[in-house]
Amino acid sequence: MTLRLFNTLTSQVEELAPVDGNELRMYACGPTVYDYGHIGNFRTFLQVDVLRRFLKLQGIAPRHVMNITDVDDKIIRNAAAAGVPIGEYTPRFENAFFEDLDALSVEKPEVIARATENIPSMVELIEDLAKQDYAYKTEDGSWYFRIAKFPEYGKLSKKDFSGITDGARVDVDEYDKDSARDFALWKAPKPGEYHWETSLGPGRPGWHIECSAMATKFLGDGLDLHAGGEDLMFPHHENEIAQSESASHKCFARHWFHVRFLLVEGRKMSKSEGNFYTLRDLLLKGYKASAIRMLLISVPYRQQLNFTFDGLAAETGAVERLRTFRDRVRSAQAGTETNPELADETARCRRNFFEALSNDLNTAEARAAIFDLVRAGNAAIDAKKLGAENVTQMLDLLSQFDAVFAVLEDNDARWTKFALDWAARENRLDQVSPELLAQNALGDEEIQALVDKRTAAKRARNFALADQIRNELAEKGVLIEDSKDGVRWKRK
Ligand code: AMP
Ligand code: ZN
Repeated sequence: MTLRLFNTLTSQVEELAPVDGNELRMYACGPTVYDYGHIGNFRTFLQVDVLRRFLKLQGIAPRHVMNITDVDDKIIRNAAAAGVPIGEYTPRFENAFFEDLDALSVEKPEVIARATENIPSMVELIEDLAKQDYAYKTEDGSWYFRIAKFPEYGKLSKKDFSGITDGARVDVDEYDKDSARDFALWKAPKPGEYHWETSLGPGRPGWHIECSAMATKFLGDGLDLHAGGEDLMFPHHENEIAQSESASHKCFARHWFHVRFLLVEGRKMSKSEGNFYTLRDLLLKGYKASAIRMLLISVPYRQQLNFTFDGLAAETGAVERLRTFRDRVRSAQAGTETNPELADETARCRRNFFEALSNDLNTAEARAAIFDLVRAGNAAIDAKKLGAENVTQMLDLLSQFDAVFAVLEDNDARWTKFALDWAARENRLDQVSPELLAQNALGDEEIQALVDKRTAAKRARNFALADQIRNELAEKGVLIEDSKDGVRWKRK
């Protein structure tokens, strides 16, 4: 079966296959690590995960590169405000990003490329562009890309830029939607600002050059696929194409995969709108990681998805139902005789499942096919009409479903605990929902035992253990106060 996927560049649904052998070379724009990601960001990473998982199920090996933008204006500003070098500021958010991906069962790309570790490749690419007169230096020492020299500018976003003014410039961070202007490749530092000393002069790379340089470094020319959220189409991806194709005179990426937005009440979920939830926000409200994954992947990537708590609650039920079904099938009393109707229905569901995903990753229909199986399977189990063969076929299809959807294995409690530990460390326990606190509630005796254990740990100068116990109690809604009359505790 082949995978047919919409290509933004050609505006057509096309077959996606690697040009070289069995390895599909793909690049996906990664996060800027200055804060926690919101679930809108994760919708994009999850849909790319669905793509790579489905490719694997089809026997194609992704070679997937994702960049980490660990230098940009915001990072430089935030690090300076915190009084630390950028290299000390970003790891915390990069780690948090990978923890969140892990909680959402997103597979790690084969290559993680940090911008700060690949500056020489970017400098080299800018020098190449300068040699060919595509890049020029301005008075302040910054370098810009000359878009008037690249007539195909606009071919991805389908914008008409025929009236380009030669030399009109724009800072990378100030783009508006419809103007095409020369963009920064290399930004000269303002006084006292973090920078690299290079053959281009002092400065730091622009965001666009980062992706062009690293994509080519790790994947070569002519990528099989390039991915990102829909907002990256213009200017980011348009600029990547301009830079890379001007330098190499070859196609940069054959297929462009854009994930449409996650919305909240009809508006894009974003940091600047303030209408966002992080994964941790939701875990602390008591929602399960698996339900969040299910919600974010169940609407196909080419449709926008409106986030609601009702929707999320419904997905909790959907995941529960699938897990219960899997357990029922596993422990079903199967006879020796195969139920032929059930075998036919299982085969039909299987066909629908694969056809749906092959047809532009239609996750909604793929999921519907599995719920058809749940209905047919449950009816057969209730009627005690199934054979060992039926069980094998159903479990087989469930495992293929889960190779893509990845919601059946139950790690939810572990991730909820993870979020609670984090909230205790970061003093964010006020964000924990009362229901979740109640679920975790301890009896008086359990509390007293932990309090005593902490007191003993303190006496033994084992402060790490003492702090751990204090956090554990805090997660369970118990506050400890040390006073001169001894240790007191109270429930929140
Ligand atoms: P950023 O860290 O802002 O560069 O974003 C990381 C990824 O998330 C990019 O691919 C963005 O296009 C994507 N993204 C940002 N906001 C949303 C949203 N509301 N829905 C879906 N994807 C988004
Ligand atoms: Zn990028």
